[in-house]
Amino acid sequence: MAERIPETLQKKLSDRLSFYDDLGIQLFYRDRSVVATRSSDHGLEILASAYISTPELHKEGTLPKPAGRPVLPKAALAVTPVGSKITSLPVVAGPSLFEAADKIADDTMPKVREDLGECTRCKLHSTRHKIVFGDGNPKAELVFVGEGPGADEDAQGLPFVGRAGKLLTQMIEAMGLQRKDVYICNVVKCRPPENRQPEEDEVRTCSPFLFRQIDVIAPKVIVCLGAVAAKTLLQTNRGISQFRGEWLEFRGRKLLATYHPAYLLRNPPAKSEVWKDLQKVMAVLGLEVKKGKLAP
Ligand code: URA
Repeated sequence: MAERIPETLQKKLSDRLSFYDDLGIQLFYRDRSVVATRSSDHGLEILASAYISTPELHKEGTLPKPAGRPVLPKAALAVTPVGSKITSLPVVAGPSLFEAADKIADDTMPKVREDLGECTRCKLHSTRHKIVFGDGNPKAELVFVGEGPGADEDAQGLPFVGRAGKLLTQMIEAMGLQRKDVYICNVVKCRPPENRQPEEDEVRTCSPFLFRQIDVIAPKVIVCLGAVAAKTLLQTNRGISQFRGEWLEFRGRKLLATYHPAYLLRNPPAKSEVWKDLQKVMAVLGLEVKKGKLAP
């Protein structure tokens, strides 16, 4: 009879697999080479000075540059990337998350919140303390989507207020913005126990509220923080490093996926890549790259 893996080991394995997934490393293959490079990008210093002690930074090979912006049919729900190499991200098999999430006419943020209510739709409700609905400007041009609340968020009912949140705040400020200028939310609104990744049924149950939030805000740019957000909005199983930093679309809106701040805490050299991604976002939003350094 097959032996059961102890729960702690299972969790370790699951964390490690998520970590590889964040890196974009699939189980039996690796399709991108990693090369060491030195960046002279000034904006990088802004982030890097706060977190990186070594100037040797790692950079992934980049995909060919976008050939042009594809025209999506209005009702298109799948994502069409604006790059030339990835002509389409394969959509995962099974019923689409989007089927149950058609746009709701005259929707508003308070209505979304009211419909969510004191949610008991999935098992996460039984261990949560506070629902973490989202925070910021409901008319923001820029929306950040994370994975799900951690312990600090669960205690305060606000997204990204822990360690990863502090880093996200610094990233936002490095862009010349403040948290109140953007909207920050998550794929799931309740904390997964032990900070595990949200499970498929939890994502399926909760994500329609995220889609409604995005529709209501109608941002110019959506930034997915990490693989879970990217996979949810793009409906893909691809590793994030295969499309990180590329302009994609979600329901006709510009979407860019970058690494999760929690991943950056574990892998500071990746901050340089994230800063480059954020600079692309700044360019689209017409924001100037700020000179100077972040406060220590
Ligand atoms: N990580 C997330 O993905 N979301 C949060 O709100 C906090 C940490």
